[in-house]
Amino acid sequence: MLKTKCLKIKGFETVVVGKDPSAHFHAIIAVHSTRLGPSLGGIRMWPYKNENEALRDVLRLAQAMSKKAAISGLQVGGGKAVIIGDPGKDKTRSVLLLMGALIESLKGQYIAAKDSGIVPEDLDVVAEKTRYVTGTTGKNGGSGDPSLSTAKGVLRGMQAACQVVFGSQDLKNRVVAIQGVGHVGWNLGNLLVKHGAKLIVADLQPERAAGAQRAWNAKVVPLWRIHRVRADIFAPCALGGILNAKTIPQLRARIVAGGANNQFQDEERDPYLLMRRHIVHVPDYVLNAGGLIQLVVREVLHQRRVAPWIANIQRTVQQVLLASAREHLPPLIVANRMALEKIGA
Ligand code: NAD
Repeated sequence: MLKTKCLKIKGFETVVVGKDPSAHFHAIIAVHSTRLGPSLGGIRMWPYKNENEALRDVLRLAQAMSKKAAISGLQVGGGKAVIIGDPGKDKTRSVLLLMGALIESLKGQYIAAKDSGIVPEDLDVVAEKTRYVTGTTGKNGGSGDPSLSTAKGVLRGMQAACQVVFGSQDLKNRVVAIQGVGHVGWNLGNLLVKHGAKLIVADLQPERAAGAQRAWNAKVVPLWRIHRVRADIFAPCALGGILNAKTIPQLRARIVAGGANNQFQDEERDPYLLMRRHIVHVPDYVLNAGGLIQLVVREVLHQRRVAPWIANIQRTVQQVLLASAREHLPPLIVANRMALEKIGA
């Protein structure tokens, strides 16, 4: 049977732990803010070592969702869920049904979506127990894979950054180094090639890099080199933490703009290291909001046209970068301030 326990955590509206030992179910939902609307964010399934590690992750992710939604002008708040377990071994039907029941217990305060370890088919199972879920498969009324929308937003943000740094938003002949050509990186590469950019790529999976070489005539470099190549833009589209005290001195691009979440290893220190090197960073949660925008516009607002919302990313990035230059503050610090102002926090 599902047992729930509420935790009181400063700065968060609701944090609930759900457990059912007989089904090996252990999950947490964190609602950071519902000031702008119901909180929305993905369910991540990960083999966390213990509840504390899972709690740290879900709180950080929920807060980031609030900022992403607010800065994108979406009337939703930030929330996130984590299931403790290995998605390869522990993702049973009962675990997903219990997740649905836990979401339902919050009566719409939290709306689920997908994150690492969860696929749209899993959300179809979650939806058997709750209607507060987005990103299910098309047959269940979901809006499908958000990666193309994410990549379109990244492209818009790159254009804004080029306008600020080079005085033109034109991407023709710009050299872009993409780290990771998975869902977002691949869609982004396709868009960049259509705009005449020249690509350098690296991917952990050699067949993906080889595919990029064939499809786009991209130059393939080893994993350790991709952030060091001479390029106009470095686009991290793989993991978090790629910008750190070791890699920042090695960068040779003028702009860092990519889809990966949480690019800085240390958000207090690293944005300043990058600024001192006169490299312009576009904050990830501003740039990669296209996927969230698709979910909210299609499945919460029930509107068809996602494009104008994604086009707004270009304007927001421009505002952030201009304010950053004016105030001599890293773009992430400026974006955080703008997002918190919009939330009213
Ligand atoms: P994905 O798993 O489809 O792609 C990631 C790619 O990076 C894979 O091809 C993988 O082989 C490669 N990779 C992993 N480690 C690498 C390394 N060290 N060097 C080079 N390549 C490496 O994931 P995705 O959906 O494309 O997401 C990419 C990033 O964007 C993640 O950080 C994700 O959180 C973020 N993001 C994705 C979306 C979305 O719509 N998919 C939305 C917002 C943010």
